[in-house]
Amino acid sequence: MESQKKYKPKFSFEFFPPKTLEAVGKLQTTTERLAQLKPSFFSVTFGAGGSTRERTFETVMDIYKKTGIDGVPHVSCIGSTTEEIKTILDSYIEGGIRNVVALRGDLPSGSIGGGPLRYASELVEFIRQETGDHFHIEVAAYPEFHPQAPSAQKDLENFKRKVDAGADAAITQYFYNPDAYYRFIDSCEKLGIEIPIVPGIMPIVTCTQLCRFSEACGAEIPRWILKRLQEFGDDRASIQEFGIEVTTKLCEQLLTNGAPGLHFYTMNQSAASVEIWKNIGIDQ
Ligand code: FAD
Repeated sequence: MESQKKYKPKFSFEFFPPKTLEAVGKLQTTTERLAQLKPSFFSVTFGAGGSTRERTFETVMDIYKKTGIDGVPHVSCIGSTTEEIKTILDSYIEGGIRNVVALRGDLPSGSIGGGPLRYASELVEFIRQETGDHFHIEVAAYPEFHPQAPSAQKDLENFKRKVDAGADAAITQYFYNPDAYYRFIDSCEKLGIEIPIVPGIMPIVTCTQLCRFSEACGAEIPRWILKRLQEFGDDRASIQEFGIEVTTKLCEQLLTNGAPGLHFYTMNQSAASVEIWKNIGIDQ
């Protein structure tokens, strides 16, 4: 973990672009609450193939205008042409945005057409080639490994390709087993990777939602957590109380051991993230 301890911890929140007017209003309330905590940035996801292109842009610009806190757009390359990606990057440069999260993305099942940039490393290379050092580039990291990776070692090597292509920092997929993260960092150090790798934190709000996401992205829910969640059944209050306790402990351990910040997957809700933040006593 030595490589991580030299970085000043950064704390951030992730949103997805809202679809309806009602959801826009709800996200505004969430953003206002979370802005009071003074995070380093709010990031906004991007639907692969450009499906949320305008909404991601509008949400990012709106966040900055209303809170003064950096809005960081995710940009994914799968299913998009290089011209489309260049247009997106240009619009962010014009809007004064200096940070992006660069991803491959996942096309919805049944979609065809990968596009010329096949991996996030190629997207990072493209961003550097087209925009030089304008953007601070974040990429994704997988302490429990990406579900499509042929092997753990190959996945690490592929992660290194993103760093070598010019990524400045990384945010991990969420996990509940901190050892997976520590070991991942140690493996990165052995490969000479020294960028900050910030743990992604998924507050536990419902059992069904967590299981669905974890199945899709390959994140492991430890058996002791799953068993407890299943036993709570429809008792949402108990699930949330248990979830906050588990996630608070995880965050405390990670920070004590030198993690360079935390990135919360908020699902556009503020309550659990605020509670965890207060429990840990983050003082920005
Ligand atoms: P990559 O780094 O390209 O890796 C994908 C797979 O390809 C891995 O298995 C890797 O080992 C393999 N690979 C990489 N390079 C090579 C190579 N040269 N040869 C062979 N294999 C290779 N998805 C969205 O659609 N929108 C979002 O906004 C979004 N935000 C995210 C934010 C974070 C912090 C994280 C962790 C994930 C996010 N995702 C998002 C999900 C992400 O798009 C998926 O996990 C996707 O499947 C992989 O994206 P990646 O950028 O990690 O891909």
